[in-house]
Amino acid sequence: MPRTVHIIGAGLAGLAAALALSARGETVVVHEATGFAGGRCRSYHDASLGMTIDNGNHLVLSGNHSALDYLRGIGAADRLIGPRRAEFKFFDLASREGWTLRFDDGRLPFWIFDPRRRVPGTRGLDYLALGRLLWPPPGKTVGEVIGCDGALYRRLVEPLLLAALNIDPPQGSAKLAGAVIRQTLLAGGRACRPLIARDGLGPTLIEPALACLQRRGAQVRLDHQLRAIRFGPERADALDFGGGDTVLLGDDDTVIVAVPPYAAASLVAGLQVPTEFRAIVNAHFRVDSSGQPSILGVLNGTVEWIFAFPGRLSVTISAADRLLDIPREDLAKTIWAEVSTALTLPAGLPPGLPPWQIVRERRATFAATPEQDAKRPGAETAWRNLVLAGDWTNTGLPATIEGAIRSGNRAADVIAHR
Ligand SMILES: Cc1cc2nc3c(=O)[nH]c(=O)nc-3n(C[C@H](O)[C@H](O)[C@H](O)COP(=O)(O)OP(=O)(O)OC[C@H]3O[C@@H](n4cnc5c(N)ncnc54)[C@H](O)[C@@H]3O)c2cc1C
Repeated sequence: MPRTVHIIGAGLAGLAAALALSARGETVVVHEATGFAGGRCRSYHDASLGMTIDNGNHLVLSGNHSALDYLRGIGAADRLIGPRRAEFKFFDLASREGWTLRFDDGRLPFWIFDPRRRVPGTRGLDYLALGRLLWPPPGKTVGEVIGCDGALYRRLVEPLLLAALNIDPPQGSAKLAGAVIRQTLLAGGRACRPLIARDGLGPTLIEPALACLQRRGAQVRLDHQLRAIRFGPERADALDFGGGDTVLLGDDDTVIVAVPPYAAASLVAGLQVPTEFRAIVNAHFRVDSSGQPSILGVLNGTVEWIFAFPGRLSVTISAADRLLDIPREDLAKTIWAEVSTALTLPAGLPPGLPPWQIVRERRATFAATPEQDAKRPGAETAWRNLVLAGDWTNTGLPATIEGAIRSGNRAADVIAHR
C-alpha cells in the first residue's frame, strides 16, 4: 500500500500542502468539515445582492512569491490582476485631499524624495524612522518601537500595517510589522503591486486548485469533519470522523492538521495556539463601478479600503471588532456615505442605499500581538506522523494568504523528507 497523507482542512494551507504533495506523487486525501473548500478565502452566491461575492476582499502583493507560485502551479496566475506599477491611491475624508503614492520599481526609494510621489505632508528624512521597524528587538509592539503619530504614520504606516496585521498597529507585533515592511517598502515597487482576484477568490484560488488535485487523483472529501484523533505514545493511530467512520493510520501514513487554531487545539491535546482574534468587516454595494480606481485607501473614516469589482463596490475594514454590534443597516449607511464622499459616483444614482450586504468575519485572523505571536507553534509536533499548517502557525508572517500557503508548503516538505 502506498502511504497516504490525510490533510484536515481545505483552506489555503491544506490545499497548498495537498498540491505540493500530489505533485510529488504522494497519495493525498483532504477532509473538509464544511460543504466547500477555501475556508476564510472563498466566494459564495449572495441572495440579497443577486451576485457572487467573496467573504472578504483579499489583497495580494506582487512580492508574495509563494502565493504567486501556487497560482502558477494551478494555472491561474493570470486571474490576479493589478496595475503594471506599484501605485496606491488615497483619499482623506477629513481634509478631502486625494493623492497617489508611486513607488520606484527597484529597491532604491527615490519616491520618498519626490513630493509628487510621496505621502503629502512628509519629508524624505521622515522615512528613515521606519528603519527601526526592520529588525526590531524581540517581543516589542510597534508602538514601543516607532512613534505612532505624524503624517507618515497616519497616511502610510497605519493603513499598511492595519491591513497587513489586522490589528490596531501600536498594539501589533513589531517583528511581524518588520516582516511586512521588509517584504513591501524595502523590497521596492516590483514587490508592492497590489493584486486582486477580480473574478472572485473561488474562481482564482480555490476552484483551479480543486481541479488540479482531481487531475492528480487526490481526493477532497467535503462535509467530512474530523471529530477526534486517537493517539498512541509516539504517533497518531486513527482519525475519528464520528458515527463509526474511523480511518486507521498505517505505519507510513501521515496527517497534516490545517484547521484554525481553536479547532487544532481541540484535536491535539496540549497544543499551544493563539487564542485571541480580530474581526474584519466587508461591505458590498451593487452599483456600476466603471471608471473607479480598482483600490482606494481611505483615511479618517470608518472605511479603510474601497475595491471596485465588476458591478460592485466593496469596502474592507480591519481590526473591526468595534463594529460587530452596530446594527447592519446603520453600518451600511455610514459606509455608503463615506464611499459617496471618497468617490465620484455615476450621476443619476437613485437616492438612498443601493443593494448592499455586510459580511462580518469575527475571527478573521489571530490577534497579531507579540504575546499571541509567541504562541504560534512550528510545523512539527511531538507525534512523528502529525504536522501542523495554517496561517496561525509560526510562519514569521501575519495571518495572510502568503503565510497560509507557505505553511502548507512547509508541512508538505516536512512529510516529504520523512
Ligand atoms: C475577511 C477576511 C479578509 C482577509 N483579507 C486578506 C487579505 O487581504 N490578504 C491576505 O493575504 N489575507 C487575508 N485574509 C487572511 C486569509 O484569508 C487567511 O490567512 C487564509 O485564508 C487562511 O487559510 P488557512 O488555510 O490557514 O485557514 P482557513 O481558511 O481557516 O482553513 C481551515 C479549514 O479547516 C476546516 N476545518 C476546521 N475544522 C475542521 C475539522 N475538524 N475537520 C475538517 N476540516 C476542518 C475549515 O472549515 C476551513 O475550511 C483575510 C481573511 C478574512 C477572513
